[in-house]
Amino acid sequence: MRVDPFDAVLFDLDGTLCRRTQDTQAMYDRMFDRVGEPRFGDPEDLWATLDGPPDHDDPVGYFAVGFTRLAAQHDRSNVDPIALSRALLTVIDDSAVEFLPGAEEAVTRAAATGAVGVVTNGPEDRQRTKLDALGVTDRFDVLVYGAELPRSKPHALPFDRAIDALGVDAGRTLYVGNSLEYDVAGAQNAGLSTVWLRDGGNAGAYEPDHVVDSLVELPAILAGDR
Ligand SMILES: [Mg+2]
Repeated sequence: MRVDPFDAVLFDLDGTLCRRTQDTQAMYDRMFDRVGEPRFGDPEDLWATLDGPPDHDDPVGYFAVGFTRLAAQHDRSNVDPIALSRALLTVIDDSAVEFLPGAEEAVTRAAATGAVGVVTNGPEDRQRTKLDALGVTDRFDVLVYGAELPRSKPHALPFDRAIDALGVDAGRTLYVGNSLEYDVAGAQNAGLSTVWLRDGGNAGAYEPDHVVDSLVELPAILAGDR
């Protein structure tokens, strides 16, 4: 008889369990309408100006830097980047999310073998909205929001919080995430085993314990078959 290799499975949220379904072009137009400015650029141009992942401590400042750069590219340096940034945060609909392939079943299967949780870097209000929209909030035994803690992923703290809350061993806990830098390295900092959900790239210098192209593959890992 095979012994279950994991007592708990923790998941990243964005890009691992779910993705956004909002029409980003329409969102972008609504943002300009709100501030009464003629549109410039595209959502993709804006994302390209941003430095690294979202700064959850200062989301307005994070996007304002991007708008300042984008405005300069379009000779629109008279616009108010702070106003655009605030408008963007208003028009983003966090309830417009859907499960990534295999994600809902992966949570169900993980819950059947042990404790399950979410460790995300986002703020509680935005991430709870997504989980509620997906209808899975109550299926998790622990929810940890890095933005609400002194340190977020890849620091070990958010993982430690989840482990402590569940009363399980880090060495018998699996973390599933789509970021090598924040999820794989972070979980390894806390002593967890890791599954990297890759986006077509390769792991480079990182060493996840398992690599999958979709969460459809997770049940086999949970069963110890690979
Ligand atoms: Mg992610």
